[in-house]
Amino acid sequence: MSSRFDTIVRCSAGHLFTTKWMPLGSFKAIRLGRRRYQRCPVGHHWAIVRKVAPDTLTPEERETAARTHDTSVI
Ligand SMILES: [Zn+2]
Repeated sequence: MSSRFDTIVRCSAGHLFTTKWMPLGSFKAIRLGRRRYQRCPVGHHWAIVRKVAPDTLTPEERETAARTHDTSVI
């Protein structure tokens, strides 16, 4: 399931995944401007994540991010 709020992000450990980045914030994440603190579904740890522009990624990285979506974990 995807929506226009789906955003590719990278955590502080370098993991790529897709998350919902709602304009008005989310109860499951702490907003820190363009960054936020949330659970990383790849490494199963809490981390600072930040938005990644999809065109800066390789096709392999985009596919990895698209496969991992935090709504399937939380
Ligand atoms: Zn991570």
